[in-house]
Amino acid sequence: MMNIAQNLELSCYLFPNKPAIIFEEESFTYKDLDEMVNRVANGLRSLDIRRRDRVALFLPNIPEFVISYLGILKIGAVAVSINIMLKTDEVRYILNDCAAKAIITTESQTEYIQEPDLPQLQHILIAEGRANKGISLKQLMAKSSPEARAVEMSRDDPASILYTSGTTGFPKGATLSHGNVIFNSYCANCCYRIQKSDRLLLFLPLSHCFGQNAILNAGISACTTIILQRRFDPDQVLETITTHQVTMLFGVPTVFIKLLNMDTSNYNLENIRYYFSAAAPMPLQVAENWYKKFGFVIHEGYGLTETSPFAAYNHNLNYKLGSVGTPIANVEMKIVDGDGNQVEIGELGEITIKGANVMLGYWNRPFETAEVIKNGWLHTGDIGRMDEDGFFYVIDRSKDMIVVSGFKVYPTEVENVIYQHPAVAEVAIYGVPDPLKGEIVKANIILKASQTITEQQIIDFCYERMAAYKVPRVINFVNSIPKNSTGKVLKRFLRQESISQVVEKRQEL
Ligand code: ATP
Repeated sequence: MMNIAQNLELSCYLFPNKPAIIFEEESFTYKDLDEMVNRVANGLRSLDIRRRDRVALFLPNIPEFVISYLGILKIGAVAVSINIMLKTDEVRYILNDCAAKAIITTESQTEYIQEPDLPQLQHILIAEGRANKGISLKQLMAKSSPEARAVEMSRDDPASILYTSGTTGFPKGATLSHGNVIFNSYCANCCYRIQKSDRLLLFLPLSHCFGQNAILNAGISACTTIILQRRFDPDQVLETITTHQVTMLFGVPTVFIKLLNMDTSNYNLENIRYYFSAAAPMPLQVAENWYKKFGFVIHEGYGLTETSPFAAYNHNLNYKLGSVGTPIANVEMKIVDGDGNQVEIGELGEITIKGANVMLGYWNRPFETAEVIKNGWLHTGDIGRMDEDGFFYVIDRSKDMIVVSGFKVYPTEVENVIYQHPAVAEVAIYGVPDPLKGEIVKANIILKASQTITEQQIIDFCYERMAAYKVPRVINFVNSIPKNSTGKVLKRFLRQESISQVVEKRQEL
């Protein structure tokens, strides 16, 4: 029997007066946090929220997210995270899909919650701003007792539902059990070699598995101090690292790309002993440049929302640049062909994962669940290979693969080459339909400040380093590349945007 909320109870028992969360000007000790969580838990009970009821969190990265999340789990209810960037129709879809009984949100976000379309929703709790519509979370907490004990749950009881962010399709609710999350947060701690003296910076969205489990739950279970920020703001991040003596920095590749291209000489990064990237491919050139500039490797992990998220890790001791490492403890990974048979070492195929980290399934979606979990193996949709030492390499998402005149082009490979160009700050490669070749390769490129270069120079640079069919036919110099709330490039959006532009041009003609 277990409950994720017991991680906090234990950390509070061990280090009651240690700062657990620092947010803007506020600091909360483990005892403060524990009491606030208990108040939320008791408050929710008073609203008749029971074991297995779904309670949605539609909140930015504020302490109330953490408090509410743990309060929900403490009473055995299920925390449903909704990305703060979603709008009315998307929010309605999720709330109805999981039949949420309550939602905790902010005053400004209530405009996206249209009650008449939400028959199951009984309570709206406002955690920030005025509670004109709904109940004030603060008032509910003030009326509730600061003492509570976590409801005993079994390993396979659902704890949280995380909707896949939809970079490749319609959101599905990946349902993680208490066992999934506890197992994954402990494994993450082992991989990071986290210590209670560590100070973690958390700006990745708490509504995503990376922020929620691989940082928040991992950090709380290891009694660390978490410095919480609303979002990724590069200047603020450097400032916070300096003032709060941050020791561990977690990000997605675009975070490291941004920081790499900034002047950091006025900041003190000396306390950072560990850098970690996951959730998207880390360009080799970026990892190398980072090492040259800061003298640290960026450790890479691999996983999916469906694997809670940690599945593989590139360990300190036998680190291989460019690899996502080996499976974490109690997890197996193998590369399979289209029939599900394991391929030879070095051959490309689909990455599949089995172990204590694999989700229970998609909420209320047995058919979609059976499509991805076959005989206990989760089919990731990622193309990869394994080398003779058992190290895994993620080549790309199968959905992002481009087929040019029958030849396969993996965007990550082309991006890795373009990153070698000294004028390039950021690049996204994607495919668009072409009447002759099936698809052609396009590149959106952000140049480094004060760099001028022509499209042809990039094309020539590519021709010297890759087969002709992989070379982008169209280069767009842009000021920004669309990303989701975690910082992942929205390739689907880039493709659609490009197709719409072509259609518009044809209509003009
Ligand atoms: P969707 O909604 O389409 O499932 P998502 O981006 O919301 O997309 P996540 O669960 O956040 O889904 O992302 C999982 C995916 O991120 C993996 O399948 C893989 O493609 C990619 N990924 C994660 N870690 C790495 C890594 N280290 N290197 C390369 N790709 C990675």
